[in-house]
Amino acid sequence: MSSSPLKDPRTLYPHAPFKAQPQPWPGLASKMDPRPDHGEKSYVGSGKLKGRKALITGGDSGLGRATAIAYAREGADVAINYLPQEEADAAEVGDLVRKEGRKFVALPGDLRDEAFCKQLVEKAFVELDGLDIFVNCAGRQQTHDDLLEVTTEAFDWTMKTNLYALFWLTKAVIPRMQPGSAMIFTSSTNAYDPSTNILDYSITKAGIANFAKGLAKQLVSKGIRVNAIAPGPFWTALQVSGGQTMDNVEKFGETVPMKRPGQPVELAPAYVLLASDDASYMTGQIIGANGGVGLP
Ligand code: NAD
Ligand code: MG
Repeated sequence: MSSSPLKDPRTLYPHAPFKAQPQPWPGLASKMDPRPDHGEKSYVGSGKLKGRKALITGGDSGLGRATAIAYAREGADVAINYLPQEEADAAEVGDLVRKEGRKFVALPGDLRDEAFCKQLVEKAFVELDGLDIFVNCAGRQQTHDDLLEVTTEAFDWTMKTNLYALFWLTKAVIPRMQPGSAMIFTSSTNAYDPSTNILDYSITKAGIANFAKGLAKQLVSKGIRVNAIAPGPFWTALQVSGGQTMDNVEKFGETVPMKRPGQPVELAPAYVLLASDDASYMTGQIIGANGGVGLP
């Protein structure tokens, strides 16, 4: 048996072929096969976010859930937003956060509503008794091979979830943050190299990357850092609940140099870094994680 501490990144996690597994939107991580790895058993904290207070949208599953677990293990109290249909996934996150002895606040609701976005931030601020980390992971992605199939309603849904909500949430968060606070937005490699089947989504992800860079310049005067993450293909509920065709799900991750999708736990350390004082000189940056594609 080898005693090497090295782990080959190509073979660390599952790769295609995957089973076709359509779920109704917004999908549940708990129904995926294989279940995504959000670090439930593996993420080890070291007090990097001790005493911090974080609001995470989309915190029930995928990248948001991996972030919630990591933040709790790093010593932060955590509030998450998700949709009411995702209560089962959110409850699992609640159990994991409380197991770390951290406060957990569940704030379900639809981010396409401006009034709800304002209330969400207010409730998180009151319940956590402060707010110094804001992570936006909520997102809408629906596959359409032909732009002519994208209705105005579908386009509006994507814009509302990915851009308007971020605008409304950010405006509510800024006045509540003190110097030393951090915001982390979730963009995508599609911001730079759009896939043909998700053009409306890709517009929003380019907008989010641009917003992070611009807002970072504005908020540096308040001592608030703003950065973004640009993931490649990650194995999450978004992909199996309309985000990709089942053909694409079956071969998911095959086209990147590592020939496998990322697992949410593999991005948690980046969300931790950007929230923590370790990244005190980083603002307006975009961190990629995409199995070797690289960002331009
Ligand atoms: P996910 O489905 O686990 O998370 C997305 C979350 O968005 C859902 O859990 C849901 O709670 C939330 N959401 C969607 N519409 C909402 C609404 N109207 N109101 C409130 N919440 C809503 O999938 P994920 O892949 O972890 O997605 C997280 C983020 O990562 C998204 O912004 C996505 O665009 C981005 N991203 C994902 C990938 C990938 O390959 N999975 C790649 C690049 C970027
Ligand atoms: Mg979810």
